[in-house]
Amino acid sequence: MTLSSEEIRTELKRAGMRPTAQRLTICQYVLNQANHPSVEDIKAWVDDKFPGISLATVYNTVHALETAGLVQAIRFDHSDKVIYDSNTEPHFHFLDEDSGTLLDIQPEQVQINLNLPEDVLVNDISILIRGKRQ
Ligand SMILES: [Zn+2]
Repeated sequence: MTLSSEEIRTELKRAGMRPTAQRLTICQYVLNQANHPSVEDIKAWVDDKFPGISLATVYNTVHALETAGLVQAIRFDHSDKVIYDSNTEPHFHFLDEDSGTLLDIQPEQVQINLNLPEDVLVNDISILIRGKRQ
């Protein structure tokens, strides 16, 4: 999902934030360009555009995006960092262990055959597939 500047502006206002140039730049990166970035990744990227931007501004902005339902925050076992995913549809992930990058895997690419006790109700399944790209 790619959002225009105007749509991002509207979403930030809806989340109660003034759409400053800094915040818009962060949002454009997180929503339209970045691949599962952590707050540290976002800060490193945005430092080029706005030297001296605070980590708090980055946190507040991604939190607003999360509140607006435009990103989901995910923590995987392989890292202690929370990553922000602009793909908010249900999907799984492939971790390229060489580069540390995550690829989205669509649910139809994975077949899961559950054989669970009858008295459990599944709310969510998260899968991280690890490997290498060839
Ligand atoms: Zn993803």
